[in-house]
Amino acid sequence: MEKVYVNNLSNYIDKEIVFSGFVDVVRDKKWVQFIILRDSTGKVQVTVEKSDEGNASMVDLVSSLTHDSVIKVIGKVVNNEAVKLGGIEILPSNIEIISKAEELPFDYNNLDGVNIDTRLDYRWLDIRNEKNMLVRQIESCLTEGMRKYLYENNFTEIHSPKLIGAASESGSEVFEVKYFDRKAYLAQSPQFYKQMAIAAGLDKVFEVGPVYRAENSNTNRHATEFTGFDLEFAHIDSYEDVMSLEEDLLIAGLTLVKERYGEKIKEVFNTEVIVPTKPFPRIDLKDLYKELHELYNYEIPETDIGDTNAETEKLVYKLAQEKYNSEFMFITGYAATKRPFYHMRNEKGELQGYDLIWRGTEITSGAQREHRYEELLKNANEKGLGEDVKFYLQFFKYGCPAHGGFGIGLDRLTMLLLGLSTIKETEFIFRGPNRLEP
Ligand code: ATP
Repeated sequence: MEKVYVNNLSNYIDKEIVFSGFVDVVRDKKWVQFIILRDSTGKVQVTVEKSDEGNASMVDLVSSLTHDSVIKVIGKVVNNEAVKLGGIEILPSNIEIISKAEELPFDYNNLDGVNIDTRLDYRWLDIRNEKNMLVRQIESCLTEGMRKYLYENNFTEIHSPKLIGAASESGSEVFEVKYFDRKAYLAQSPQFYKQMAIAAGLDKVFEVGPVYRAENSNTNRHATEFTGFDLEFAHIDSYEDVMSLEEDLLIAGLTLVKERYGEKIKEVFNTEVIVPTKPFPRIDLKDLYKELHELYNYEIPETDIGDTNAETEKLVYKLAQEKYNSEFMFITGYAATKRPFYHMRNEKGELQGYDLIWRGTEITSGAQREHRYEELLKNANEKGLGEDVKFYLQFFKYGCPAHGGFGIGLDRLTMLLLGLSTIKETEFIFRGPNRLEP
């Protein structure tokens, strides 16, 4: 018999089934024992009548059950209006202990006061918390919504290597690894390979995969390994096309999340899922500085001119809400010196790219890419990268369509969606400067 999940039990009324799950609660009463069992879809009550002589061995077993042990129950699903959990219970004919749990290091149902590092040490227990389980399921739903949109729009999913031979691409630090008798590096994005796919004629590609950044920063929104949702597509006229596609993609993802989890997110995370409408507001960096100065008396520090910083991003959210009634805002007009060499510049040297800010934090950098070999070589040389990116420059020598794309940090996106305070809460298994385990 196949395992039946809690959310499917109502289809098995008066039938014999096999059910297995974690022991959530055992209530050992005088005449009856109740076990609340849990799987990833919910909880169900198993009821053992003590007066029934045939139940004697089961009664002893239930008395010895520890919290979070995993048991397998063979029994009949019945309706019982008195049962709070969906008016359904299982009357078992046999119970088997699959795995006996020791005493847990903390109560995952009450994480107040449990240090985040202790929680991460025991992440598999931490995720047994209903809220943390939901984070995983919601992130999966968000990814599903965005993936679905891309499949429906003829994107091809690719999987590019994470071991690479040259450390380059942008200002971000890369991890070096020993690779037999030479050095290799962990990819800091799939950028070069997405573009190789375009040069190969694939036209529209995306990848959801690991991204490595050797940034020794302990902020709430940086990890050393995170999941990038990256895409690239061909035959565009400008980075406006890229922004437009990103709007559609986010709308698709958030629509599915709202449909499936909107109510639950309100109840558990006290956060509203707001599906944005097109177009998201856009602002040029120079105008942004001006607005922030006039409205909030904010002056960008000299070192950040041509760019934004964490403080600006917070104020961008304020501005987006107050002036444009939006949670999102595109910023354009970044200085070419502050952006990677493969972002296109126009004939005036202006960068053809953007960042997208959501709820006060950058979630994407996107751009039209430079597809003209000579221009790209010039840009790379200006950044002193000519030699390092020789292999990449070859992609543009044998015909390559105009193209653009972007990368979204998925864990960061989930953090903002659910109003959580740190990316440690949303990465399945967090990796930071001080954490390589579990
Ligand atoms: P930041 O300025 O926040 O460090 P970045 O400019 O280095 O980000 P990109 O290289 O443009 O970021 O990466 C694309 C997206 O990946 C970012 O918009 C962000 O959502 C996410 N991202 C970047 N670095 C990290 C990180 N260390 N941890 C988690 N997500 C990240």
